[in-house]
Amino acid sequence: MTLYPQLILDALRNVRYPGTGKDIVSMGLVEDNIRIDGMNVTFSLLFEKPNDPFIRSVVKAAETAILTYVSPDVNIKGNITVKAKQLARPEPDKLLPEVKNIIAVSSGKGGVGKSTVAANLAVALALQGYKVGLLDADIFGPSQPKMFNLEDARPYLEEVNGRELIQPAENYGVKMLSIGFFVNKGDAVLWRGAMASNALKQLIGDANWGELDYFLIDLPPGTSDIHLTMVQTLAITGAIVVSTPQEVALADARKGISMFTGEKVNVPVLGLIENMAWFTPAELPENKYYLFGKEGCKRLAEELHIPLLGQIPIVQSICEGGDEGRPVALNPDSITGMAFQELARNVVEQINYRNEHLAPTQRVIVTKK
Ligand code: ADP
Repeated sequence: MTLYPQLILDALRNVRYPGTGKDIVSMGLVEDNIRIDGMNVTFSLLFEKPNDPFIRSVVKAAETAILTYVSPDVNIKGNITVKAKQLARPEPDKLLPEVKNIIAVSSGKGGVGKSTVAANLAVALALQGYKVGLLDADIFGPSQPKMFNLEDARPYLEEVNGRELIQPAENYGVKMLSIGFFVNKGDAVLWRGAMASNALKQLIGDANWGELDYFLIDLPPGTSDIHLTMVQTLAITGAIVVSTPQEVALADARKGISMFTGEKVNVPVLGLIENMAWFTPAELPENKYYLFGKEGCKRLAEELHIPLLGQIPIVQSICEGGDEGRPVALNPDSITGMAFQELARNVVEQINYRNEHLAPTQRVIVTKK
């Protein structure tokens, strides 16, 4: 059998915390770090106090629930770590009180189509009726102004409740700010460290994003201090990782995923997106050519027990759409448009699952005060 974090969580819902009589999942005692390796399952239980009198009985009951409800073959004995609760991540409502979900779009390697996917995902979500914002935080190559045909936009300041706020540019139903609006072309890459981090913080906290259902952040490729700044600044709902099926890209995607799930960053990974999954020539629509290898991301997703959120083929119109400032997702009936619509549905589904099934302390949904 294949184990999934959901299966484990469902089993743990049968365990009650004697202090309150509530189940340990909805109480937020199960940390969002369930790891699965074959039949080996490890995770942590978070207690309010390190000397909680129920620690031993809850750990025992959790082990029993997994062996009973999942399978007696799961290796769980001694694999449950006990921790005292501390809020590692920022309070969800500080900076963006009207933003419900924040999605980090990242990739291990440059050039795999991360920005293209972020732009099309944003457009696909907007077409589905959601309020969407996109922050282009890719200091190494801010490309969203071009992809949204907003290269000439110059976001202005507007007074909102006595504060001067940057008004995001907007096109195709997506509000957008890019580091590219504030630096000359080619100079962005010189913005390193504190300077870039501060500029990005301003684009988040001093901008009039207003009410948003989904706020996407197009991160730089790889792992950088920008990633750390973002997770320290914002309560990110989850990260999605874009890769091509090529081995070198997958190796870097793996590193990116372990950065997100590591102790320091600790952001849940919503799933993997396989971009440039295959090539189909317009004149031979039935043929698929696997230029970068077949289903590499699918295998990686299975191995790491994370969802594969979508497979996007290599299509000339995707590239042209980016260059012309008209993302292909604007045409939801085309093959590529449909692929992005499906991707958007899968992302929404993953986020809804997390929001429904995780306790309020783990849930990073932000509600209006
Ligand atoms: P990244 O943000 O990962 O550096 P980009 O989104 O800038 O990558 O994409 C790199 C190049 O590949 C761009 O020219 C883009 O138009 C093109 N591209 C990305 N995805 C596809 C695709 N699925 N089909 C065709 N071209 C693509």
